[in-house]
Amino acid sequence: MISVENLSKTFSNHTIFKNLNLKIATGDILAIIGPSGSGKSTLLRCLNLLEFPETGKVVIGDQHYEAGHISRQEIVKIRQESTMVFQQFNLFRQKTAWQNVAESLVVVKHVNKQQAKQRALAELAKVGLSEYANFYPGQLSGGQKQRVAIARSLATDSKILLLDEPTSALDSELVGEVLATLRQVVADHPDYTVVLVSHELEFVKQVATKVVFFEDGQILETGTAEEVLEHPQHERTQQFLSRFT
Ligand code: ADP
Ligand code: MG
Repeated sequence: MISVENLSKTFSNHTIFKNLNLKIATGDILAIIGPSGSGKSTLLRCLNLLEFPETGKVVIGDQHYEAGHISRQEIVKIRQESTMVFQQFNLFRQKTAWQNVAESLVVVKHVNKQQAKQRALAELAKVGLSEYANFYPGQLSGGQKQRVAIARSLATDSKILLLDEPTSALDSELVGEVLATLRQVVADHPDYTVVLVSHELEFVKQVATKVVFFEDGQILETGTAEEVLEHPQHERTQQFLSRFT
């Protein structure tokens, strides 16, 4: 479903990763763990062309691109193959919860407003926010904002979900509600392919089919959650995990 071949990305003259390779099968829930600054977000952002790598080939869903030869049309198509949930929610502050969810349906998919609203309300119900449909982001808690962002992702019908530290901006008492929502999302959609960057190792253990330990732009270890989290082979993985116990 996703394949990354020889992907390299540099910011000014700082190499983030070089010749990175990764394959993710349909239905996989791949968790990427690793220290901050190691390039996890940049990798996700290369998958949907929010960042442009210098070299490499990427297949994502039904689309693919080769670095350096990407047309405007391809960018639009690649971006539609996946949907991303960001650390900072990225909601429109001047739009209500349902309007945030309906936005891309109206603008990108040209769904009529009434249908888009119905869909938005249905998705908000799934994340337990029916009563908050008319609230603005400023009137919602961090956990509720992130659940609106999850509803917005579900409304796109994309079968590839990219989750970039979806709970790391939340106060600890709000993390649980967002993880519960995500647990429900993956249970309801076994056909979704998910790439999750997270430091919530308990959650990763429960949902991930595959875990990658990423450091300094390199994949140092890959395996099942049990293999990587319980029996890490690489010294750097062991050091990283020891911080969580
Ligand atoms: P992670 O998500 O693992 O914390 P990032 O992918 O956000 O890491 O960042 C990797 C490195 O790239 C960091 O050193 C960060 O400062 C740098 N970086 C990220 N985005 C940009 C950017 N737009 N311009 C310059 N440097 C960036
Ligand atoms: Mg990041």
